[in-house]
Amino acid sequence: MTMSAVLETHQLSSGYHGHAFVTDLDISVEPGEVIALLGPNGAGKTTTLLAIAGELPALSGTVEMFGRKRTDALYKRAADGLAFVTEERSVFMQLTTAENFRVGGADAVECLQMFPELEPLMNRTAGLLSGGEQQMVTIARALSRKPKLLLIDELSLGLAPLVVHRLLDVVRDAASTHGIGVILVEQKVELALAVSNRAYVLRDGKVILQGPSDHIGAQVKELEESYLSGIA
Ligand code: ATP
Repeated sequence: MTMSAVLETHQLSSGYHGHAFVTDLDISVEPGEVIALLGPNGAGKTTTLLAIAGELPALSGTVEMFGRKRTDALYKRAADGLAFVTEERSVFMQLTTAENFRVGGADAVECLQMFPELEPLMNRTAGLLSGGEQQMVTIARALSRKPKLLLIDELSLGLAPLVVHRLLDVVRDAASTHGIGVILVEQKVELALAVSNRAYVLRDGKVILQGPSDHIGAQVKELEESYLSGIA
């Protein structure tokens, strides 16, 4: 593991019921770096995040996180600085925005600095917030705790592009300000490439393309077109 990386996987394979679905993954994340994890439906993006998080076992290969090899569970990795924002919105619907920050151990002042639009909604029950506002609460709460590595699965599901833009801008700023490494699984490819430093493209559980996000845009577009036309 390089001295500075928050995550390095080496030839990592993982999957379900003892069968590998993602194979031979070499993925690294440096502090402050936003990594986009792209690929068509079923490519293995969520499986990769679950393996990194410790929710699925490494069937072969290794996960090195925060300077050491890990085979432990998510809650132990979380105690050392891993945060995982999953597809399901994870706000407490019966609690207010302010209570959501409090029980999540987040600093409300800091959360409002990230998303001032939540200020008038602090006493509103989170169940009554829009989908985008709920994601703001989720993301602010996760970032405010200053994880070393933040995994985000499909932030944009069902949200308007403008809202997704806003959320991802905040993630990118917080990542570079606080040195948080981020892996972002995202269906909106252009947006993901615009906010990330580097990207990995998965297909059938393997990395088929990787590189700096501002260099690989054209290749990703070609790949996308070939999926859509069913040629590749
Ligand atoms: P999407 O964009 O559709 O969420 P993805 O790239 O995140 O796709 P994964 O969710 O990682 O893809 O799924 C990869 C493969 O693993 C798929 O073939 C899926 O059917 C399979 N899979 C997912 N969850 C399970 C499970 N609990 N048990 C068995 N197979 C599963």
